[in-house]
Amino acid sequence: MKKSNPNPNANRNILRLAYVVAGVFVCMLLYLGYFLQFESGSVINNAYNPRVDLLAERVVRGELLSSDGQVLARTVTAEDGSERREYPFGSLFAHVVGYTGNGKTGIESLTNFYLLTSHVNLVEQVFNEFSGVKNLGDNVVTTLDVRLQQTAYDLLGDRRGAVVVMEPDTGKILAMVSKPDYDPNAIAENWEALTADEAGEARLLNRAAQGLYAPGSTFKILTLLEYLREHPEDYGEFRFDCDGTYENGEYTIRCYHGEAHGSQDLTQAFANSCNGAFAQIGLGLDKAGFGELAEQLLYNRQLPLSLPYSESSFAMTAEADTWETLQTAIGQGRTQVTPVHQTMITAAIANGGTLMKPYLIDRVESAGGQEGKKFMPSAWGELMTAKEAADLTEFMRNVVATGTGSALRTDAYTVAGKTGSAEFETGRETHAWFTGFAPAESPKIAVTVIVEEGGSGGRAAAPIARGIFDAYFSGN
Ligand SMILES: [Zn+2]
Repeated sequence: MKKSNPNPNANRNILRLAYVVAGVFVCMLLYLGYFLQFESGSVINNAYNPRVDLLAERVVRGELLSSDGQVLARTVTAEDGSERREYPFGSLFAHVVGYTGNGKTGIESLTNFYLLTSHVNLVEQVFNEFSGVKNLGDNVVTTLDVRLQQTAYDLLGDRRGAVVVMEPDTGKILAMVSKPDYDPNAIAENWEALTADEAGEARLLNRAAQGLYAPGSTFKILTLLEYLREHPEDYGEFRFDCDGTYENGEYTIRCYHGEAHGSQDLTQAFANSCNGAFAQIGLGLDKAGFGELAEQLLYNRQLPLSLPYSESSFAMTAEADTWETLQTAIGQGRTQVTPVHQTMITAAIANGGTLMKPYLIDRVESAGGQEGKKFMPSAWGELMTAKEAADLTEFMRNVVATGTGSALRTDAYTVAGKTGSAEFETGRETHAWFTGFAPAESPKIAVTVIVEEGGSGGRAAAPIARGIFDAYFSGN
């Protein structure tokens, strides 16, 4: 008797199910392979993953090195086997290199996976395994330049503030200083005092990337760019007569220390940082367009930066009233920026409008010195057109040649830049800013300096930038 199949589709369904199961299995295998190859690093690198510490039981944490091979961090093993992380330069690299022990910050945190991965040769690994010796973790060569870092650190002295030095055409960060600082060698002993922060100094804060400040007159770079966009044909005809104060109804905007700049064209108004001229410019701008420009230049947005940072904010909307519009145009009001973000804007101007992604890690090497992973420069994208970058460069050259950036006038190289003196609290000294690059005609480095309560940007911040440019161009 012929056996009848109650459901002729059953076999086909079972077959289909088998394919699906097999397919899922293959996908899982592929994902596992992918995970081990590419993603495990980011999981291990997560500072909150306690399993990373297990690696430290088998591997001696590798060294962090400057771009020229000087040791910025190393692990010293005592005779009893106990390990101590040592920072030979003390507080010099405190924020950017970071620390490990009481959690991890800075490059110590970014490179945790590499430092705890060993690529010593197989024979040595087997030998170490049998003799109960830990393998040496990989070393990480950073982009940091000891001489520039030291120069910036010394010039900032005991004032609060930050310095960032970056290569515009690669995105390499050469120096990053934040003051006040701390000694990473003594992070455990001083932990309570540092976190309690009774003096309100915020020593653990990396002001270069996390400090939010009013941009002051450095923001006139954006105001100027928006004006150039709205007046491509006739910006050369701009004139403003400055008597030291600009009045609009009930509102008064003063130039720095009430200085009367007299008759100003656009180049002079920018070079002398005339608040009156820029307040008037601001009132005439398309507010929505200005907001779009700010966001194009990475305000209110995430930065391409692997260190922890604060997001800069541009809060003026199309509905803003006269007072807020006036304040925003001169970099006051609710606008806030971090020094590292300001450096990115300046670097993009220096690099023909294209922002290179800032980076701190050049390459990974085995303990034996064999090169492993190498990090290459990569473009983030255009912040502005090449024409706009060239125009802004010309305006910024005049700041140094004829205006508030006179501290950077020298025959040795040409600087394009902008000063700023940002008010942040009535009755207190302004924060002093400088941001710029050199040589103006073929930029090698971009520098941003902020000195908290330093007073005038031209007098307090520009000389620090001068020292950094001098150090760079005398040594290269
Ligand atoms: Zn003025």
